[in-house]
Order: sequence, then C-alpha cells, then structure tokens
Amino acid sequence: MLKIENLHVQVAGKDILKGLSLDLQPGQVHAIMGPNGAGKSTLGNILAGREGYEVSEGTVEFEGRNLLELEPEERAAAGVFLAFQYPVEIAGVNNTYFLRAALNAQRKARGETELDSMQFLKLVREKLAVLHLKDELLHRGVNEGFSGGEKKRNEIFQLALLEPKLAILDETDSGLDIDALKAVADGVNALRSPDRAFLVITHYQRLLDYIKPDVVHVLADGRIVESGGPELALELEAHGYEWLKDRVAPES
Ligand code: ADP
Ligand code: MG
Ligand code: MG
Repeated sequence: MLKIENLHVQVAGKDILKGLSLDLQPGQVHAIMGPNGAGKSTLGNILAGREGYEVSEGTVEFEGRNLLELEPEERAAAGVFLAFQYPVEIAGVNNTYFLRAALNAQRKARGETELDSMQFLKLVREKLAVLHLKDELLHRGVNEGFSGGEKKRNEIFQLALLEPKLAILDETDSGLDIDALKAVADGVNALRSPDRAFLVITHYQRLLDYIKPDVVHVLADGRIVESGGPELALELEAHGYEWLKDRVAPES
C-alpha cells in the first residue's frame, strides 16, 4: 500500500531523512518511534505534501502511484489521511458544515456524488455510534476552544468520516494527556480494518499500551535503525533511546 524506498529529505538545506525505507501493507498498524529531532514529524509532513520539504533521493509509492507528485488534495482524495491536516481553529465555522465540505470535496475529486445534509447526518450518526462519541463537538466552531482531548476526538471523527485507506497520525511530542491518548487509541482500534493501514508516529511508548501495532520501527537520525514487534516498544520503554545509540548506522 505504502512503499517508501531510500527516502532522503532536506529541510532548510539540512539533511533530515537520510535513507528511510518502509513497507506498509493494508490492514497493518505500524508505529514509528524515536527520540526528539529524529525526523518523525518530517516523515509525516513529507507524506502530507507540506511545503518546505525537499526530496533529494528515493521514492514514495501509494497503491502504485508516485505520492510525491500529488497535491495534498489529490493525496486526500486518493485515500491518504493526515491527522494534522485540519488542526486550525476556524472560529464561527460550524464543525458539521466543515466536515461535510471536506468529505464532499474528496468525493467530488473521486467522481462520486456529494452527500446532501440528510445523507451526511445519517453518516454522522453511524460514525458517532462506532466511536461511542457524543455529538457535542459537531455544533461548535471548528476546533474552537477545543481542549487537547477534544481536538483528538474530533480528529478521529474526521478520520471515521473520511474513511481513508491510509491514516497517518503524528502525535507530536507535546504531552498529550491520558484522555487524548485514549481517544486516539480507541479511535484507531475501532477503525482498524483489513483494507486500512495506520502509520502511528509517537515519541512515547505509552500510546502503544492501548494500540497494539503490528510493527514498531525506531527512527533515529533520519533512518529506521530497528524494526520489530510490539515488544520493541517495551524494550525502548525499559532502556530508553540511548540503548539504540550504537545501532545508528554510519552515514552512507
Ligand atoms: P521529530 O518529530 O522526530 O522530533 P522533526 O521531524 O520535527 O523531528 O525534526 C527533525 C529535525 O529537523 C530537527 O533537527 C529539527 O530541528 C529540524 N527541522 C524540522 N523542521 C524544520 C524547519 N522548518 N526548519 C529547520 N529545521 C527543521
Ligand atoms: Mg520533535
Ligand atoms: Mg515530531
């Protein structure tokens, strides 16, 4: 589904990703862990198509297409969801309205019919039920005054509505509280399916107490230095990232 080969990325002229390879199959959840500054968010941003990132080498294929030459909107329409895609607060814009516009933009780009408000509400009710969420966030402005946990719940709700094939979640290093972590984990677990893959980027092991990944990768200094099963996350928890320092491959 997602095949990254020997990816080299520069930010502001500095090498950040230095030959990263990753192969993500449908149905799988892969976790990317790593110390601060390793390039985790850079990986998320390059997959999102954010500006300011320069690919100097390597390829990224999503379902056989060159992801790197698609615009962010085209990536979304192709089924790539990036959790930080709509992090902004949009005061005065009703969240329900916003979500319908986002979904319909994607449907239109795929040549599908747009949903009218009745059809959309039906879908909203279904998704709220799947996620055991209340509709309270829907009637507010987009992310307006949302707490960290509410933003996360809203993000997961976007994910449920947009039904992506590949969801990339960058949990950033800025301490999510336990409610926010659980909101993310519950959402991921409820939305796991054989044809959907997740790339969960996290600095902390604790998220993986709630999400059981199929594969854990450790990203250090722009490369994946170790991959393994869920037990790898526990080893990191026990020994810290220092433990992997000597495994960082020399510059090639
Ligand atoms: P992580 O998410 O693993 O903590 P990042 O991908 O955010 O790491 O950052 C990796 C490195 O790239 C860091 O050294 C960071 O300072 C640098 N970096 C990231 N974004 C920029 C930018 N816009 N300009 C300059 N340096 C950047
Ligand atoms: Mg960081
Ligand atoms: Mg980061």
